[in-house]
Amino acid sequence: PTMTTAEIRSAFLTFFEERGCKLFPSSSLIPDDPSLLLANAGMNQFKQYYQGKKTMKEIGATSCQKCVRTNDIDIIGSDGRHASFFEMLGNFSFGGVSKRQACAWALELSTEVFHLPIERLYFTVFTEDDETYEIWRSLGIEESHISRLGEDDNFWAAGPTGPCGPCSEIYYDMGEDVGCGRPDCAPGCDCDRFLEYWNLVFTQFDRQEDGSMPELPHRNLDTGMGLERMSAIMQGKTSFFDSDVMQGLIKLGEDVTGVAYVSDDYTGPSRSLRIIADHARSVDFMISDGILPGNEGRGYVLRRLLRRAVFHGRLLGVEGPFLTRFIDEVNVLMGDAYPELLKNAQLVRGIVAAEEERFSKTLDTGRIYLDEALDALEEGAVLDGAAAFKLHDTFGFPIDLTVEIAEGAGHAVDIDGFNREMELQRERARANVKGDAWGSFNDIWVELSDALPATEFTGYDGCVLDGARV
Ligand code: ATP
Ligand code: MG
Ligand code: MG
Ligand code: MG
Repeated sequence: PTMTTAEIRSAFLTFFEERGCKLFPSSSLIPDDPSLLLANAGMNQFKQYYQGKKTMKEIGATSCQKCVRTNDIDIIGSDGRHASFFEMLGNFSFGGVSKRQACAWALELSTEVFHLPIERLYFTVFTEDDETYEIWRSLGIEESHISRLGEDDNFWAAGPTGPCGPCSEIYYDMGEDVGCGRPDCAPGCDCDRFLEYWNLVFTQFDRQEDGSMPELPHRNLDTGMGLERMSAIMQGKTSFFDSDVMQGLIKLGEDVTGVAYVSDDYTGPSRSLRIIADHARSVDFMISDGILPGNEGRGYVLRRLLRRAVFHGRLLGVEGPFLTRFIDEVNVLMGDAYPELLKNAQLVRGIVAAEEERFSKTLDTGRIYLDEALDALEEGAVLDGAAAFKLHDTFGFPIDLTVEIAEGAGHAVDIDGFNREMELQRERARANVKGDAWGSFNDIWVELSDALPATEFTGYDGCVLDGARV
C-alpha cells in the first residue's frame, strides 16, 4: 500500500503515542544547546533528559524533528537519499524502554503498519553488540539479514561531546537493479540499494571534553527514522526526490529552467534540479526559524545553501531571480505540517530576494574575471591558486563555485595553492585580531571543517564574502 508523507508522519507518531510515549513538537532548527550549530537529530531537544537533568513521567517521547545536516551538503543531488533539510521521526526513552522492546516496536511498525515485507529488511548491529544481535534473532530475523558494522556506521554521537552509544540500523533492500550492482553490495555500502531508514541508538555514554565516556544515569533509547526515506519506500521510489513532497519542487524546477528531470541521472542538470529543490527547503525552514544569512556559524551555512541554489539556477540558464518561487512552493507543500512557514512567509521572501540579488551581482562580476582567466588557459591546464584566491578574496566568489565552473570548462583548480594563499591571509588576519574573537570563530570552523571536505571549507576561516571581512 502506498502512503503519503503526511500519512507516514502521523502513523509513526500515533503508533508511539499509543504505546505511552509523550508527543513533543519539533524544536527550532536553532538548538537550545551551545555545542550544536543546527538541530541535526530528534534527540537534540532531549539532551537534558539523557543526562538525567530532566525527567518525565511517561515511559518515553516521540517527535518529528526538523533537521539540517551540514556534513551531507556536498553530496546532495548526487544520490537519492541525502537531503540537507529533512524530517526525522523518532521515539526516545530515558530508562523506561528496554532494548528488546525498542527493537520489537521498530519491527512491528515496519511490518504491520508500513507493511514492509520482512525479506526486504536488513539489520546491522555494532561490532561488539552481541545483545542486540541476539534480540533481532529472537524476534525472528534470519542470520543472513543481520550484519555487524563498526564505529563509522554504528556508533552514534550528536556532537563532539554529549550523549552517545552503539546503534542498530534497519535497511530496506531497494532491489538488485538499484545501486552499484556489485555482488558483494550489502547494508553500509555507499550506494542507494540498501537504504538505511531507521537508526536505533542505545545512548549509554556521555562523552566529555577530555574524551572520557562515563555511563549516563540510564540506559537510554534514541531512534531516528528519515521521513523522506520512508516516503520513497512507501511510494515505490528509489529516490526521495521522486516522492510526493520533493516531486513538487522538482517539477517547479523543470518549469523554471526548461530542463527535463531524469530521475536516475545523478550528474549534470538533474543534479542541479535536486540541489535547488533540496536547498530551497533548508533556506525556507532556516530563515523561518530565525536564522539570517551571514558570514559565520549558521548564518554562513544558510548563505552557502542559498547561494548554491542560486548558482545552480544560473548553471541551468535561469537569468533573473527565481528562488522565491521555490520558497512559495515549499510553503504550499509543507505549510500544513509546519504553520511557521506560512506565518513567516513574507519575511522569508524578502530575505531570500535580497540575498539572491546581492549574490547575483557577485556572480556577474566574478564570472567575468573567471571566464577571462579560464579562456587564457591552455586546454586542460590547471587554474592557479592565486586566481582562485583572488576570486574569493576580491569578488567574494565561493571556491566551490570556482571549482565547479572550472571543471565544467575542463580545468582543475590548484587547491593547494589556494590553501596557501588562504593560510597567508589567515596569518595576516590573526596578527590583526586581539582577544578571543578567534576563539568562538575557530569553534565554528572546527565543527564545519569536520563536516565538510577541505577544498570547500578551507574557505571559511578568515573568509570574505561580499567584501565583508570576518
Ligand atoms: P546515512 O548513513 O545514510 O548518511 P546516517 O547514519 O548518517 O545516515 P543517522 O544519523 O543514523 O543517519 O540518522 C537517522 C536517520 O535519519 C537515518 O537512518 C536516515 O533515515 C535519516 N537521515 C540521516 N541523514 C539524512 C539525510 N541527510 N537526508 C535524509 N535523511 C537522513
Ligand atoms: Mg550520514
Ligand atoms: Mg548510516
Ligand atoms: Mg545511521
